Amino acid sequence: MLPKTADIVIIGAGALGSSIAYHLTKRGARDILVLERESIGSGSTSKAAGGIRVQFATRVEIEFSLRGIAFFKRFEEEMGAPCDFRQEGYLFVLTRERDLERFRKNVALQQSLGADVRIIAPDDARAIVPALRVDDAIAAVWGPMDGYASPNDVVQAYAAQARARGARFVEGTPVTGIEVAGERVAAVQTPAGRIETRLVVNAAGPQAPLVGKMVGLELPVDPRRRHIFVTDAFTEIQHPLPLVTDTATGFYCRSEQQAILMSPGDIGAQTEYAASVDWSVLEQAVEKAVRRIPALERARVRHAWAGLRPLTPDGRGILDWAPGIEGLYLAVGFCGHGFQHSPAAGEMVAELLTTGATSLDLSDLRLGRFSRAG
Ligand SMILES: Cc1cc2nc3c(=O)[nH]c(=O)nc-3n(C[C@H](O)[C@H](O)[C@H](O)COP(=O)(O)OP(=O)(O)OC[C@H]3O[C@@H](n4cnc5c(N)ncnc54)[C@H](O)[C@@H]3O)c2cc1C
Repeated sequence: MLPKTADIVIIGAGALGSSIAYHLTKRGARDILVLERESIGSGSTSKAAGGIRVQFATRVEIEFSLRGIAFFKRFEEEMGAPCDFRQEGYLFVLTRERDLERFRKNVALQQSLGADVRIIAPDDARAIVPALRVDDAIAAVWGPMDGYASPNDVVQAYAAQARARGARFVEGTPVTGIEVAGERVAAVQTPAGRIETRLVVNAAGPQAPLVGKMVGLELPVDPRRRHIFVTDAFTEIQHPLPLVTDTATGFYCRSEQQAILMSPGDIGAQTEYAASVDWSVLEQAVEKAVRRIPALERARVRHAWAGLRPLTPDGRGILDWAPGIEGLYLAVGFCGHGFQHSPAAGEMVAELLTTGATSLDLSDLRLGRFSRAG
């Protein structure tokens, strides 16, 4: 049974919505209702590769990464469940001067904030990954703090811990409308009934723009499909393979136990919500894979999945109040890093909703940056 009222309604139980619920309850908030149209974590979060890196261009995003890494390190102690966090590193292979310039600038900022990231020579990259082809590389960037964790374990733990402190998660219940009275949120509608509330968080992932439309708000978030392919056990290359990215092509891969998990990056433009596997993408994935790690020619792909990344025009997420509608908060558009930034994003939203302020400066994540000229 749905409650008739809630202090805070969160739309979507993905990494972001569940983390916000967890952090709110950790700060003492109790009357939290999370409405999920399918099941906890079933959206983009369960499709993520689990990657966690400090390679970001803005201060706030790097701080989110560092907080995320610290959280994943203490995860089992704080959350009472494992999340398979492995710091096996990220290795970016650079073949273009313009990428090197961009990375140099970003790495300097990352290092100034305490991150361990290094620009290394191609031969040093080969020392880390002997199977790597580097004859066309001009440099590589090595992040030994980086790694990956299990998105599903993390989202389930957020929900379990939030529930243990009194939050309610209701699955199979889509929000179909948001009622506004005057200029303030008054209630949300679902097929199972209406819930009165003065505070709603839109954490609907790729579907966030559809939730925005319920109150006439256009959100600059577009769904973009990405594929992941996983091979059979493949022992011709040394495990653990760090997450290797070919920066020019967008291809990346890493160890998944003794197998290889790989993605060709984004292929083609797309603004639909379909996330089924298109097997014709495999050919491009293999071509990119073999160009960077020739031995992968002999690996056999065992299975695949695809998911939607909620993309914004500048690749940064949005944490902000919705303009013109009091009581509607946006935690949307976290592109390809919403899983790894969910600990810090959840913490920031919980701080804001319980105290009116945040301990990190979120101005680079404001919605208004897209309407400003220049
Ligand atoms: C193939 C792939 C690889 C990725 N790899 C990484 C990675 O390595 N590292 C990383 O950090 N990120 C990665 N990402 C990105 C990451 O998955 C997303 O940024 C993140 O999961 C977004 O979390 P979310 O909570 O915003 O969205 P979601 O997980 O999609 O959660 C939103 C939830 O809202 C629900 N919902 C939608 N509409 C409604 C409604 N009207 N009413 C109720 N519920 C609703 C949905 O069912 C869904 O469960 C990857 C994504 C893909 C697709």
